[in-house]
Amino acid sequence: NKFIFVTGGVMSGLGKGITAASTGRLLKNAGFDVTAVKIDPYLNVDAGTMNPYQHGEVYVLEDGGEVDLDLGNYERFLDVDMTSDHNITTGKTYKHVIEKERAGDYLGKTVQIIPHITDDIKRRIREAAEGYDVCIVEVGGTVGDIEGMPYLEALRQFAHEEDEEDILFTHVTLVPYSKNGEQKTKPTQHSVKEVRSIGLQPDVIVGRCEDKLDPETKEKIALFCDIPTDAVFSNPDVEDVYHVPLMVEDEGLDQYVLERFGLADEALPEGER
Ligand code: ADP
Repeated sequence: NKFIFVTGGVMSGLGKGITAASTGRLLKNAGFDVTAVKIDPYLNVDAGTMNPYQHGEVYVLEDGGEVDLDLGNYERFLDVDMTSDHNITTGKTYKHVIEKERAGDYLGKTVQIIPHITDDIKRRIREAAEGYDVCIVEVGGTVGDIEGMPYLEALRQFAHEEDEEDILFTHVTLVPYSKNGEQKTKPTQHSVKEVRSIGLQPDVIVGRCEDKLDPETKEKIALFCDIPTDAVFSNPDVEDVYHVPLMVEDEGLDQYVLERFGLADEALPEGER
């Protein structure tokens, strides 16, 4: 199994989910079986009880699971049917761990976020990925949120346990324009600093911007965030989100990821995707 962990910086609603689903679509086009896991760091067990005015209409999966709308993006972009096992919430993990504690399964141990909650998160990700070549794991919210911390710690451990070649971290950030029309990288630098302070190093950075990132902007992000310039991609504003896979393909995101995973030789040739 290969895993792509997608985090977001600066603010929510950036297009992290669309970027993650687009990456998955391109890998699917290259001939791989791709699935996704959405992590929602809230204490609700599922989205079924949440106000649709706040969160959008609840999305219902084939097994009756009531989940966030993002899962709908994944089903449509990846052309797969998912089950509620592909949506991890804080409510689900804590409920499971606390029920095990009540049943005496921990044999007198002190039950803690690390390792018991983080172990449960890792188990859920591995189970959801079974049978697929690539699993995209999107962490909802923004890096630095207290709610997201146990998940980022679980991903750090996960990466430590797997081969380096099997894990890729993608960080999606905002690249705003200044009043004089310059693309500004400071918010990206700050959010990458935050990611690194919790022990994660992005392999790929995707900048959400009104337009494509200028070559100088990419170079600056690469330099400050310690990644190659060709690992920086743009996700510009488009009229229709189904164009996003084409935008990132155009910049070579699929080829970069395939090479990083050592899958370039197994992939369908570019003309046949
Ligand atoms: P996040 O996961 O960061 O919260 P989403 O992927 O759910 O963000 O996207 C937030 C909103 O922005 C959605 O309504 C989505 O359709 C829209 N969006 C995402 N990417 C783009 C883009 N490149 N251009 C225009 N709208 C986009």
